[in-house]
Amino acid sequence: MPTKALVWLRRDLRLSDHTALEVATRKYDEVFIAFVYDTNILNDLSNKKDRRIQFIQESLSEIHKTTKSLITLHGNPIQLIPELANELEVDTVITAHDDDPYAIKRDQEVKSQLNREFQTVLDHLIKEKQEVMKDDGTPYRVFTPYSRAWRNIVNPSDFAARKPDLTKIVTPKNLRIGKLGNHTLNEIGFEDCGPLIYTPGESAAQVQLKEFLPKISHYREDRNFPAKSGTSGLSVHLRFGTISIRECFRQARSRTSATKWETELIWREFYHMLLANFPELGQGRTFQPQYNDIKWPGNIDHLEAWKAGQTGYPLVDAAMRCFNNTGAMHNRLRMVVAMFLTKDLLIDWRLGEQYFAENLLDFELASNNGGWQWSASTGADAQPYFRIFNPYLQSVKFDPEGTFIREWVPELAHLDNKSIHWPFNPDGTPTLETPSDYPLPIVSHPLQKQAAIKLFKP
Ligand SMILES: Cc1cc2nc3c(=O)[nH]c(=O)nc-3n(C[C@H](O)[C@H](O)[C@H](O)COP(=O)(O)OP(=O)(O)OC[C@H]3O[C@@H](n4cnc5c(N)ncnc54)[C@H](O)[C@@H]3O)c2cc1C
Repeated sequence: MPTKALVWLRRDLRLSDHTALEVATRKYDEVFIAFVYDTNILNDLSNKKDRRIQFIQESLSEIHKTTKSLITLHGNPIQLIPELANELEVDTVITAHDDDPYAIKRDQEVKSQLNREFQTVLDHLIKEKQEVMKDDGTPYRVFTPYSRAWRNIVNPSDFAARKPDLTKIVTPKNLRIGKLGNHTLNEIGFEDCGPLIYTPGESAAQVQLKEFLPKISHYREDRNFPAKSGTSGLSVHLRFGTISIRECFRQARSRTSATKWETELIWREFYHMLLANFPELGQGRTFQPQYNDIKWPGNIDHLEAWKAGQTGYPLVDAAMRCFNNTGAMHNRLRMVVAMFLTKDLLIDWRLGEQYFAENLLDFELASNNGGWQWSASTGADAQPYFRIFNPYLQSVKFDPEGTFIREWVPELAHLDNKSIHWPFNPDGTPTLETPSDYPLPIVSHPLQKQAAIKLFKP
């Protein structure tokens, strides 16, 4: 009898450099591959034009096109994976770690329902959970010593490609549950969003990486300018595993000029490590407990203005409008809008975190929570509460010619390079040039800055 494995794909939607597939095809004679459109997650998504679901769906189509063997299911994986494993009579189910709190619970339940072996492997990170800890055995809370320890502990085998033997993938016959091939978006209750800003799938991720590599040596200088394509744009591919994190690190490590980019990839590891060790972060707790119960005094109408890109702060509005249109936002702008929501509008960071979670194409609980708590000064190694970005100065510095603002705030496009950053009098009242269809600033930055410092001061 041939030995058989089922590889359950989740956040590793590719075929190359793939840990679960490598283990399965090395150890077993026949390997099935399956993906579950998980209704526990999908039913909570109110917007049926969800770009993430489309990204997943299109990435899976590429896998099926190559293998002709993908099984997809729609429903509750806690029932479906054991049922499928029974039907295929596999010896084992192999899947990659997922450290989101929901995923941990789901995997425990699948394991308890499965009357066969359940193996999990590390794929989406280089080092996870308790692999990089302080000498006293506790988790790092500050990034720089963490990254130093991370760099000391890793070795070449951590980055080596996991090469599966794809000839071992077999096509199931007469499936009773699930479907051979991919579900359409309509079949799972979703609609097409039109072309996505980043093309889904493994081959598109490779193109994206190849386009970025010649720019990697300028990353340190260019990464802060939203109008330049100075960053990799790979976060969505890392989120859904259409690219291997090991491949990204291999590319970074093979170039002396790529240390800064590697450091950003280590930030991703840092935030995953924090969520794994402090799972309460995923339930809205602040990392610094003294800020957990702040009474945020902001006006909730301002939250709507922030979401809509109607605050009267041009760079903030351009960032939010770009985000609403594409699901993507440049890192510099994420920091600017998050700081603006928390320190200028004095609105609870959790509301911003939630809006990002609902709409970010690359949404990742660990990094989103980390980014929000960094900006709100409530997180591990966060921006100190008294160091508040001035949105006008950020605009002048990082979008000096207003290129990004012009693209997303057409009401301001005709203004010169100076007034595009602040088309008002210094006190925020309109000038003769202020476009009548652009809102006046909804708050005064200098006043709100003082209020924010007062709110946070111990
Ligand atoms: C408020 C806020 C929310 C964020 N939410 C998310 C999120 O949900 N998902 C997400 O992947 N990133 C998030 N980030 C981090 C960062 O903004 C994005 O990873 C980055 O903009 C993605 O663009 P890129 O792929 O071109 O990155 P590059 O600059 O090319 O960096 C390479 C990769 O490193 C990782 N990375 C870079 N910066 C960070 C960072 N600060 N923290 C963690 N990982 C990082 C990403 O995986 C990224 O793809 C958030 C940042 C902030 C301030």
